Amino acid sequence: MRKTALVSGASIAGLTMAYWLNRYGFKVTVVEISAGLKLGGSPIDIRGEALDAVKRMGILEKIQEVSLITTIEFVNAQNECVGTLSGLGKDDSGQDIEIHRNQLIQIIREAASTDIEYLFSNTIETVDQDGEKVMVTFKDGQTRNFDFLFGADGVHSNVRKLVFGAEENFNYFCGAYFAVLNADEHIEGQNAGIMYNMPNKMAGISSKGNTILLFRSPKLDYDYRNTTQHKQIHTAHFSGEGWEIPDILKTMTDSDRLYFDEICQIKMSSWIKGRIALIGDAAHCAGFPTGMGSSLAIQGATILADAMVENDDYPTVFQKYNDTFRPVAEQAQSFVYAGLSFLLPETQEAIDNRNRAY
Ligand SMILES: Cc1cc2nc3c(=O)[nH]c(=O)nc-3n(C[C@H](O)[C@H](O)[C@H](O)COP(=O)(O)OP(=O)(O)OC[C@H]3O[C@@H](n4cnc5c(N)ncnc54)[C@H](O)[C@@H]3O)c2cc1C
Repeated sequence: MRKTALVSGASIAGLTMAYWLNRYGFKVTVVEISAGLKLGGSPIDIRGEALDAVKRMGILEKIQEVSLITTIEFVNAQNECVGTLSGLGKDDSGQDIEIHRNQLIQIIREAASTDIEYLFSNTIETVDQDGEKVMVTFKDGQTRNFDFLFGADGVHSNVRKLVFGAEENFNYFCGAYFAVLNADEHIEGQNAGIMYNMPNKMAGISSKGNTILLFRSPKLDYDYRNTTQHKQIHTAHFSGEGWEIPDILKTMTDSDRLYFDEICQIKMSSWIKGRIALIGDAAHCAGFPTGMGSSLAIQGATILADAMVENDDYPTVFQKYNDTFRPVAEQAQSFVYAGLSFLLPETQEAIDNRNRAY
């Protein structure tokens, strides 16, 4: 009998886990709340040991083919270039690759076997477990049993909420919000962008028409699935600003492809409970300014899947994952405030100092 695994979330952590478990002989089901793969977002980085994992998955070359070299020009309110950051994603050691998030997700999905079962537009409503199995009820009414459940459903994880408790117990807000609006589903090759900072706020436009807005703020009360509310929040924070901001706000208001979220981290004393484990942002979101979310997602899922095939004793394997991957995730999390200071200087003087440094 093949062991069965349910993975919640069909993004970078979930698809990586599904890829490996299927390859190791598990019968894998992936449940995803969106009607298809949840695309969108800005380019992301694959670094360090995550690169070894994608090499072993046989997708390194495909990733390299569509990797990006990004140049960012810092501009002032008159749109004059006052600093240039070039060569992002081009690391001579080959230890850092930048790729559009959409393309990475699609590459992993294509690499994963067609033998994987996908339940789109669905989610887990109840979870229970005993020493033998995990019992799950889905939104569409089906009740099924699995040997294991992996929560890979992102920073606002449903599995974490159902099994480990409310998000507020684990969510550490970093004092800022970000929005990404994708004009282009695919960016390849050269990716040039301009970035304009106001104290505590930033706006960026890529040459492909993608836009990003960031701002510092105390915690806001909003529904993270309500796009109309997200647009109102941005208008309230950016209206009255100069440069290209009025056009960006108009594009954002007219678009239905906005991704908005808080910058936060997830910190938990344990990512495992019985036959259930969390991976990726659900377990240890490092925060967008670290640039480490996708690498951690790939690396963590790979380490856990490898361990599961090496040893049948899942409590030992889960515990080892929980103990050994924790320092890696915590180290990545420690970069978040340095990243925020770079992206969102708090004063005009700090903005000028940063720009002069490039
Ligand atoms: C649309 C989007 C845009 C993003 N843009 C950026 C960006 O610009 N820069 C950046 O650094 N990071 C971005 N991220 C986060 C980044 O993808 C992660 O930090 C990192 O890749 C780790 O991935 P993950 O698989 O753990 O989580 P995520 O990539 O967040 O994926 C979580 C998956 O779980 C699914 N899901 C959520 N709730 C449920 C549920 N109840 N049931 C089933 N499935 C569920 C989601 O639809 C999604 O497919 C974005 C995430 C999303 C979802």
